[in-house]
Amino acid sequence: MNSYSQYQGKTAVVTGGTSGIGEACVKYLAERGAVVHAWGLDVDQCEYRHENVHVKELDVTDAAAMASAVDTIDTIDILIPAAGISVADREHEMDTFDKVISINLSAVMHICSLAKAKMPKGGAMVLIASMYSTFGAGGRPAYAASKGGIVQLVKSLAQSYAPDGIRVNAVAPGWIDTPLLAPLKADKEISGAILGRTPLARFGDPEEIAKVVSFLCSDLASFVTGASLPVDGGYLTV
Ligand code: NAD
Repeated sequence: MNSYSQYQGKTAVVTGGTSGIGEACVKYLAERGAVVHAWGLDVDQCEYRHENVHVKELDVTDAAAMASAVDTIDTIDILIPAAGISVADREHEMDTFDKVISINLSAVMHICSLAKAKMPKGGAMVLIASMYSTFGAGGRPAYAASKGGIVQLVKSLAQSYAPDGIRVNAVAPGWIDTPLLAPLKADKEISGAILGRTPLARFGDPEEIAKVVSFLCSDLASFVTGASLPVDGGYLTV
């Protein structure tokens, strides 16, 4: 087996697969042989196309649409629910708080439940946590609560799904160069402070998250479940 056939015969679902970290996971798996269903918003702005990738416009908070989309797939070997948002300055307002929690946490639980019914023994789910699973965020309470929730969800689903041979883990990215980060990156003061505190002194590349997601999906991690692995250039160590 060469690395380009590593995922031959496997099917993956990636929510938020139309941008940033999710898109990097889609590319990484598709280019190694997986059939990948990439779901998200604004699919017309997603330029990446590959013969193994099926792109679909889908709002993860639309429960019926998610159930129908999962219904069209026979087997899901890998699930990466990467869709997520953060809303600067408005997360203390309840409608925004609820919206962030519904996308970043409730919809993740929903897709995990739906995918579990299609997942064979040996299947893997990799959720996307954050540094804000560890830190609070005064300006973004919903984002921090949702990402703290992801770590606990991972531990809970790992226990619950283990009897079926399904592993559930998360990566906790640091500051990764994606559209989500663009406003902070553009602010020289904020980006200077971030890089000054990051031992590896740079932003991460989305593919560096995809590689660790791939590790957690693979047999190399066959005894790893319930873990949330920081991929942050050492940011959490400081
Ligand atoms: P991004 O903005 O590039 O991508 C977000 C993706 O989520 C897009 O594909 C978008 O279409 C999708 N999405 C948003 N709302 C949706 C909805 N209602 N239904 C379906 N899809 C929806 O951001 P990103 O940086 O790639 O973020 C991906 C994940 O990584 C998020 O969960 C984010 O919280 C997490 N994360 C990112 C960073 C970072 O520094 N970029 C750090 C830690 C965690």
